Amino acid sequence: MKSLLKSLVEIPAPPGHEKELRDFVREEIETMADEIRVDSMGNLIVRKGEVREGGKRIMIASHLDEIGLIATHIDKRGFIRFTNMGGVYPSYLLGGRVRFLDGTRGVIDVEGSGKRKKVPGLDKMYIDIGAENENQCSIDIGDVAVFDRPWLDLGKRVVSKALDDRVGVAVMVETLRKVHQSPKRTPHESWFVFSNQEEVGLRGAGPAAYQLEPDIGLAIDVTRTGDTPQGVKMDVSLGEGPAIKIRDKGMLSHPEVVDWMIDVARKHKISCQREVLERGTTDAASIQLTRGGVPSGCLSIPCRYVHSPSEMVDWDDVQQAAILLEKLLFEPFLGS
Ligand SMILES: [Zn+2]
Repeated sequence: MKSLLKSLVEIPAPPGHEKELRDFVREEIETMADEIRVDSMGNLIVRKGEVREGGKRIMIASHLDEIGLIATHIDKRGFIRFTNMGGVYPSYLLGGRVRFLDGTRGVIDVEGSGKRKKVPGLDKMYIDIGAENENQCSIDIGDVAVFDRPWLDLGKRVVSKALDDRVGVAVMVETLRKVHQSPKRTPHESWFVFSNQEEVGLRGAGPAAYQLEPDIGLAIDVTRTGDTPQGVKMDVSLGEGPAIKIRDKGMLSHPEVVDWMIDVARKHKISCQREVLERGTTDAASIQLTRGGVPSGCLSIPCRYVHSPSEMVDWDDVQQAAILLEKLLFEPFLGS
């Protein structure tokens, strides 16, 4: 799964530009799917199994897109002004490098010089691609870029841009593979949705849920941790297992979905953590509010430095998340 994850993070997929990554994922999973399609939003939708005795229709979503930057203005000297696509923190940008979808690379700096007491806003920053003037600048208004930073394998922990949410995509691909290879059939009809435009407002998952009318919705995504120096007060740490979301800023998980996840983890001796996240949300929030409402939850992979060019996850957490998702799909949902 590690080499799969490395391939996934290296394909740029800012919001609205998920096609190259979607095609890659489709190729990985096509032979394992009972049904596969791309909807008009650009979500890649895969069915595995059908509802059998005691089973449910479960939608599982992870998002293909990553945060990015979009060019807004190019001045006479070829400096590119930009704004954010999703939750970009100015403090993570200065001195960093970005790559546009055509392969053009550039560095980010800020107006003025000398010591800065405060982190400047994006409106004071620019991208320098080495152009000598406006005519030499190959970038157009509306072109988009992502962080340009190599994958780093630290052994038990890995570091990369876009682990949010390629780690969820990798967990879903791995789970689909296990379900496909298993001699047993699951009681559930599982819909694996590789969604898009999550980072700009959970835009892909809602229409997908509307089409699929699931009984249960699950997102697989990263969550923050409270285990760094003077970090936020949050009871999630790297290396202590996947987290089961109880609440985030956009959603209260359905209690029966939480119980199901915790019971199955206990039964299979998978250590997991209870998550209450004060900032951020996931596709589960938009699935939950579709049609008449969908009981929803989220399986989270603890991640440090979320939305930075160097997000960090613990490899055991990633593997345990894949095992827990697989077990969930083989266990009945005992809620109402
Ligand atoms: Zn995410």
